[in-house]
Amino acid sequence: AKAKGRNTYHFYSQELNAAANERLFIENELRLALKEKQFVLYYQPQVDSKTQHVVGYEALIRWFHPTQGMIPPTKFIPIAEATGLIVELGAWVLQESCEFAARLAAQGRENNISINLSARQFKDANLVPLLASMIRQTNVPARRLHLELTESMLMGNVEAAITQLHQLKALGVSISIDDFGTGYSSLSYLKRFPVDILKVDRSFVKDIPEDTNDMEITAAIIAMAQKLKLNVVAEGVETIEQVAFLQNNNCFIVQGYYYSPPIPESELPKLFEKLNDT
Ligand code: C2E
Ligand code: CA
Ligand code: CA
Ligand code: CA
Repeated sequence: AKAKGRNTYHFYSQELNAAANERLFIENELRLALKEKQFVLYYQPQVDSKTQHVVGYEALIRWFHPTQGMIPPTKFIPIAEATGLIVELGAWVLQESCEFAARLAAQGRENNISINLSARQFKDANLVPLLASMIRQTNVPARRLHLELTESMLMGNVEAAITQLHQLKALGVSISIDDFGTGYSSLSYLKRFPVDILKVDRSFVKDIPEDTNDMEITAAIIAMAQKLKLNVVAEGVETIEQVAFLQNNNCFIVQGYYYSPPIPESELPKLFEKLNDT
């Protein structure tokens, strides 16, 4: 038993080492990647299921590492957040998203661009002036920008969060609550925050129509959003049954593999062709 314990410990510490090494590797490589422009934004369409037209896109970052290949955001965003590199990376995402939105507007496609903000970025005192200058410089209509925040980012210092939200909204942008239903926010708070959109989390959508609990929760979130005069976007929609369920419950803006995964800008023409959206 003793020997086994030692082996287990040995194995465990090796695993810990591997995790720590990977973390260190990503941390070091992140700095370089910013300089060497190894990041690309992919865009996932948000589609009006009534008309099949794209109403907007969520910008989702991708890291193409020269030797590791694609490193998913779930691997490096938390590390960028912990090291503070997220502020610089997040600024790049904002700038790219504004430029993308401006290019679309120039083609006569006035679509919304949803941008994920990290907790650090949201708390950063420089966020509002930075975004203001990007909006000015790229000439993007501010109403086209939707900033996605999670509930947990709002719940720490509620008063500070409300102030920051009002300052962002004064720029003309919209505020969206990402992964809605998975955090700790209460309905009374929701009313105090100046938010515009709720995104129903994929965890509630993915087992529709098998899981009747999830169906009731999803229907309740949509109904509540409507009472609060908020727009609703359903995330992670993969099947026609899910689209139909959401339509029957008055949610028409959907995002998910059913319509398209996140794609690079170069693949937009193919998407428009597929959706017959010209
Ligand atoms: P999120 O904001 O909840 O983004 C939605 C995730 O669900 C994306 O994963 C997307 O590719 C995936 N997804 C979309 N439709 C479907 C579907 O139908 N089925 C399934 N199974 N998945 C779907 P992704 O791109 O790997 O991003 C993961 C997370 O990384 C994001 O979750 C977000 O929290 C974070 N992230 C991505 N880009 C950025 C960024 O630019 N800045 C920040 N701060 N975070 C980002
Ligand atoms: Ca998001
Ligand atoms: Ca989400
Ligand atoms: Ca479930």
